[in-house]
Amino acid sequence: MTAFHIWTIGCQMNVADSRRLAESLEKYGLEAAQGPHDADVVVLYSCVVRQQAEDRVHGQLHALQQMKAARPHMKVVVAGCVSDIPDWRHRYPFVDLIAEPGQDLTVRDRLVDLLDLSERYRFDPEQAVRVPGISEGVTIHQGCNRSCTYCIVPSTRGGERSRPPAVVLDEVRGLVARGTKEVVLLSQIVERYGRDLRPRVLLSELLSLLDEVEGLERIRFLTSYPGDFGRDLVDAIAELPRVCEDVNLPIQSGDDDMLRRMKRGYVVDNYRQLIQRLRARMPDVGLSTDIIVGFPGETESEHQHTLDMLAEFRFDVVHVAMYSPRPGTVSATQMDDDVPREEKRRRLHDVETLQKRIATEINAGYLGRSVDVLVEGTAKGRWYGRTRTNKLVHFASDEPLAGRLVDVEITATEPWYLEGQLEPAAVLAC
Ligand code: SF4
Repeated sequence: MTAFHIWTIGCQMNVADSRRLAESLEKYGLEAAQGPHDADVVVLYSCVVRQQAEDRVHGQLHALQQMKAARPHMKVVVAGCVSDIPDWRHRYPFVDLIAEPGQDLTVRDRLVDLLDLSERYRFDPEQAVRVPGISEGVTIHQGCNRSCTYCIVPSTRGGERSRPPAVVLDEVRGLVARGTKEVVLLSQIVERYGRDLRPRVLLSELLSLLDEVEGLERIRFLTSYPGDFGRDLVDAIAELPRVCEDVNLPIQSGDDDMLRRMKRGYVVDNYRQLIQRLRARMPDVGLSTDIIVGFPGETESEHQHTLDMLAEFRFDVVHVAMYSPRPGTVSATQMDDDVPREEKRRRLHDVETLQKRIATEINAGYLGRSVDVLVEGTAKGRWYGRTRTNKLVHFASDEPLAGRLVDVEITATEPWYLEGQLEPAAVLAC
């Protein structure tokens, strides 16, 4: 597991930013190191307001230079305030990244690129204390053979490679032996799993094998791509008892011209048909998507098409991001980032406002229903966990329930989560 260490000096903003960064990195599966000596990545939140503070930053950098000489794989990142970036680059060539303020990409996003981390796949509630090991990500396939114009993955992670089913099975059995109840199978383009193996294996076949693992309660997978999402996979989700009715479909835009500029390789109607197939088999299937607003050249009518598509498809969850060019991508080198930042913000707000209404309506349908929840941890003094359809549920109980499957009756609904009470005799499995 990759270990990180964050050293912070200066104002409260640096302190808050470094705390948020630590939380984000833990969600990506990194763990806090004891100190810089055993860290794989060290982030310095720098301050140059006073000479004394800047001197301490330089002192840290000199110490890190020695450590990096002994452990060359260690990454060093400087964030926060830096006085003269060209000078710092010249003085400290061993620093892997200076994430200067004022850039569109957050320090976290730039670290994700630098460390080649897997896409985020789990969002925890505020102040969550996750019990480690209950739900674990398992990489089954790496790289991507596609060439979406905004994406750095094909150049950083190379072509598609699948891990053989026996290797994945071994890892999952090992996790279950240590107490894991749910695995999330990870890939950039998960339906391509197994196409490079000989003999070829389909994702639906891997799911069938994993469905037999004794002690495993739930299986999820992401990220999906509609072109390779066959009927066999729809059947596997609908029929295999451990595979959750939860599908992530990152459509990115609701406009076909925009999708062509992104070089996504599908049109909106491909998604429409796939969603119809999924809902025909599983009316309550949980669907999430990703949207980019403000991609180069995005017109008002293209943006409106995205809103129209979201209103029609009614996803449970929409992850929306403002476009920002990733160095080294086609869109960064060949397209003008021509949608003003204020306009990107407005479009982001449009999507969030619409999605809040849709999610409120969808979640209201859960009121009074009983759902089974895998308990993952606590947040603000209550338990939280997820339904099979990936709804976040909070409830109170004094019982030790981490890692248990429980029945919860939903008593209140919000756009981003549900609240409930434990049903009598609610523990389903342990
Ligand atoms: S966005 Fe996804 S499908 Fe497109 S190149 Fe990147 S990883 Fe591949």
